[in-house]
Amino acid sequence: MEKIDTSFLDTIQEFLTSKKMLPDDFYKTFSASAPLTDHIRGLVFSKLSQTTRWEFIFKKEKQIEELFFHFDKEEINQRDEKYFLNGLINLKVGRFRKNLCFNLHHNIKVVEKGLDLYETAGEEYLHYLLKNLEGFGLPLIFEYLHYAGVDRIKPDVHVKRILSRYFYGNDDSKQFSDNGVFEWGKKVRSQGKYNLTQIDILLWRFCSKDNAEICEKKPKCFLCPLSKKCEFGRIYENK
Ligand code: SF4
Repeated sequence: MEKIDTSFLDTIQEFLTSKKMLPDDFYKTFSASAPLTDHIRGLVFSKLSQTTRWEFIFKKEKQIEELFFHFDKEEINQRDEKYFLNGLINLKVGRFRKNLCFNLHHNIKVVEKGLDLYETAGEEYLHYLLKNLEGFGLPLIFEYLHYAGVDRIKPDVHVKRILSRYFYGNDDSKQFSDNGVFEWGKKVRSQGKYNLTQIDILLWRFCSKDNAEICEKKPKCFLCPLSKKCEFGRIYENK
């Protein structure tokens, strides 16, 4: 496989570390595979995150795990949605909404069926989830994968923009597509230094609002530690 220069990720990591902007779970191991119980955990916790802040969810983490039988499929399939909704209401998990719908029985089947696809952690798997999971849009799918401990990269606007600028400079005809991000990420991961989740965290935190905000839509190349190597930055600064 083609070798990719990842030194710019080292530079971003150093920069974010010096600013104390890396999350505690940056060094956590995310794998290309996870057991079904972890997937069910991801489905439940990501869905709950739609109703309240993570800090409220984590305060009741143990009780939620018990309520959902430690995410055992057989146990869950013996109960209906109401059982879990009532349990959550009793637990008073944040601002819990009565109409929250997990579609757990259906979604567990979907996840189980797609387990062999997600080895690729790529577009095919995401399209499968998007088409088949009930009540999950793309942002929630990424939350679910994160809390299932699945290694993944989200090809959002920040990630595509910084990769396009850094690798293609000012050439508008060459831009990173969703699939381009997945393919590039897989090549970087295969080199063993960064997993997909770490790449995602580095690029997103370097660019996004309320984080480092360096390579935003209007880039701050004058503050950027990549400016000497980034063609876009050199042209932008000399305009
Ligand atoms: S030099 Fe400018 S365009 Fe290049 S990565 Fe840094 S902020 Fe973005």
